[in-house]
Amino acid sequence: MEHIVIIGNGIAGITAARHIRKNSDKKITVVSAETKYFFSRTALMYVYMGHMKFEHTQPYENWFWDKNRIDLKEGFVNNINTDEKKLIFADASTLNYDKLIIATGSKPNKFGWKGQDLEGVLGMYHKQDLENLEKHAPNNEVCKRAVIVGGGLIGIELAEMLRSRKIPVTFLVRETSFWNGVLPAQESEMINKHIKEHHIDLRLSTNLREIRSDENGKVKSIVIDETGEEIECNVVGLTAGVTPNIDFIKTSKIDTKRGVLVNRFLETNILDVFAIGDCAEQHEAIGQRRTIEAVWYTGRMMGETVAQTICGNKTEYKPGHWFNSAKFLDIEYQTYGWVFSERTKQENESYFQWQHPTKNTCITISYNATSRQFLGINTFGIRMRHEIFDKWLSENKSIEHVLEFLSDANFDPEFYKLYESEIVAKFNQENGTNINLQKKSWKRIFTKA
Ligand SMILES: Cc1cc2nc3c(=O)[nH]c(=O)nc-3n(C[C@H](O)[C@H](O)[C@H](O)COP(=O)(O)OP(=O)(O)OC[C@H]3O[C@@H](n4cnc5c(N)ncnc54)[C@H](O)[C@@H]3O)c2cc1C
Repeated sequence: MEHIVIIGNGIAGITAARHIRKNSDKKITVVSAETKYFFSRTALMYVYMGHMKFEHTQPYENWFWDKNRIDLKEGFVNNINTDEKKLIFADASTLNYDKLIIATGSKPNKFGWKGQDLEGVLGMYHKQDLENLEKHAPNNEVCKRAVIVGGGLIGIELAEMLRSRKIPVTFLVRETSFWNGVLPAQESEMINKHIKEHHIDLRLSTNLREIRSDENGKVKSIVIDETGEEIECNVVGLTAGVTPNIDFIKTSKIDTKRGVLVNRFLETNILDVFAIGDCAEQHEAIGQRRTIEAVWYTGRMMGETVAQTICGNKTEYKPGHWFNSAKFLDIEYQTYGWVFSERTKQENESYFQWQHPTKNTCITISYNATSRQFLGINTFGIRMRHEIFDKWLSENKSIEHVLEFLSDANFDPEFYKLYESEIVAKFNQENGTNINLQKKSWKRIFTKA
């Protein structure tokens, strides 16, 4: 019986295993050095915040794996011998495969800062990071202050986690405004304000120079590069992005760049070896997507796709239109299609923007100024329907169409009762148009293109 071995039990690896089982009788082994059972990485923060126990982050009961004949092996793979189709583990044991799927995820970036390996310096990625945080920041008696370095989505989550235990937080962000390489200025500035309202000491345009140690090798303070200011702290969270977790693959014959290089079928240069999830890097970007996409749902899609190929139905990875969602403290964020920041705006890309005068609610719709084609939308504090935007993007609808039928896209009828006319009136005023907002229609919503 063909033996499929998957390194990594995250969303990508586990989705592949489940779909291979659905479609075949092959022998499946999933290897992980982190935990025996799959858990939801995106839910880790809620464990520290006391909203759930770690066991509750595991979507499947422990018996699921035996019942579905998916063998789980705990262990760290040190080496892959592709000539002999063999994995070599840290304890020198080995495992043979017929087909191999590499799904080893990411690791937090470290940029060679002095003191980056001291006790109390941690990333926020693996279960072990959570345990480390629990050890060094159980409360505000033990941890008098934490410093977070790097202003992305994981940084703001870590800040929220620490604040939930009333631990003072200083947040160092290299950019002039939070996440302004991704978000338009209106949104980025709203998030700056929101962070400060949560009593987080946000330092923009600020870089870390070094982390200083006490006499026991524990974090004592950090020093800011620009000013030389020293800030005393007991924990330093390094959240300046992630990199594919593939160091151990560099010694194999599998081609790598930043990640494991794959073609559109998620195949590597070596026959019978595939890579999926955060660790996979496309040779060439698919549309405007990045060659590496470290997000949950793309890992799931790649897992489903590779399972098809492995089960004899060769399938190309086609991720469709970009979307994502996240939370910035209390503000929900969704994005569909492409909305580039002012720093990365594409030729001819224009915005229509609306912001509530007092609440943390705003919209940016991006469109092509010449063709009027709708390109994408960011929403903060409002829930939108994914399938509607997906349809409009596929049908190349115009910005005017999006505004006219915006009520079909919203999940929250109250929002539009209050603001819909305001949004359309603003657009009409700015563009000299006369768009009449249509009432929500379930018929339109459920009619396929
Ligand atoms: C705090 C946090 C919040 C996030 N929030 C969001 C969000 O809101 N939305 C979103 O889309 N994405 C979010 N992400 C990103 C998302 O979680 C990742 O994109 C996704 O989990 C990656 O899945 P994966 O299966 O590729 O890899 P992983 O989940 O990283 O799994 C890889 C596994 O492989 C194991 N492994 C690695 N090397 C070896 C080896 N040599 N031997 C054995 N095992 C090995 C690792 O230990 C790990 O268990 C978040 C990430 C974090 C850390």
